[in-house]
Amino acid sequence: ATPTSVMAGSGRAAEYGILFKGGEHLESAQQIQTVVLDKTGTVTQGKPVLTDVVTASDWTEMELLQRVGAAEQNSEHPLAEAIVEGIRGKDIALSPSEQFENIPGYGVRAHVQGQEILVGTRRLLADAKVNVPDGIVTQMNQLEEQGRTAMLVAIDGSWAGIVAVADTIKETSREAVSRLQAMGIDVIMITGDNERTARAVAEQAGIHNVLAEVLPEGKAAEVKKLQANGHKVAMVGDGINDAPALATADIGMAIGTGTDVAMEAADITLMRGDLNSIADAIEMSRRTMGNIK
Ligand code: ADP
Ligand code: MG
Repeated sequence: ATPTSVMAGSGRAAEYGILFKGGEHLESAQQIQTVVLDKTGTVTQGKPVLTDVVTASDWTEMELLQRVGAAEQNSEHPLAEAIVEGIRGKDIALSPSEQFENIPGYGVRAHVQGQEILVGTRRLLADAKVNVPDGIVTQMNQLEEQGRTAMLVAIDGSWAGIVAVADTIKETSREAVSRLQAMGIDVIMITGDNERTARAVAEQAGIHNVLAEVLPEGKAAEVKKLQANGHKVAMVGDGINDAPALATADIGMAIGTGTDVAMEAADITLMRGDLNSIADAIEMSRRTMGNIK
């Protein structure tokens, strides 16, 4: 492509809210064969809502949520924000907490009123040697099969409850995925969330390839593995967690409503959260490079 056509193409893309950081990305986007989509905030709206609370018999819902809210109010994770907002909506006052610890990919730990509170994954509780009754594991599985993210709660080393949130997919995600698939591109969803929730959400978006339970530092490694198969890979994400994978991919695309860290690491910013912009960007590249009329 001539410098003039690249400049014209970049200008046209910008009108659609697709910001290429340099002309070279407009030239290379047409080579993309695989698109990896982060789940939360990329495929989904990223605004989870608290939907379910299960308590062990030694705790009332109020007592449990007071402690969970107190622990989660220190975290900036979208799951934490959803939990805290849901608890505030029930008019439950949060207690102060101490010794807060964020455990990326697993959950949080904090002390509330002299008790140790854990909120997070099965692994978080297993690592802390907290026993979870079989019936509760089954209940958690069922919530996940509905596409909800269920988190376990422990108080002073004993299982105390489950909190679950639902994050619905963006209205346009399914259509955008099917456009990419029709263009001959493999679409893969990647997430730190568990396999069951991830599969249920991916299914709603028409995505059949899922990489679940990937730890924050593991996303870039998964992109590298795909590249090792000789594929040109685009990564699309919004979170701080996604930044290394955005930088590793042949093309990194950040969602404009996401974090600054993601946008800095990416080659393209999609100002509209709509995943149709991914297919638009690749089509514009194909057109600029003269690969379609
Ligand atoms: P994602 O890629 O979906 O944003 P993360 O890697 O951030 O996921 O987190 C993976 C899992 O760890 C979550 O699905 C959740 O079960 C647990 N987790 C992470 N942060 C928190 C938190 N603040 N409170 C409770 N659980 C959490
Ligand atoms: Mg995300």
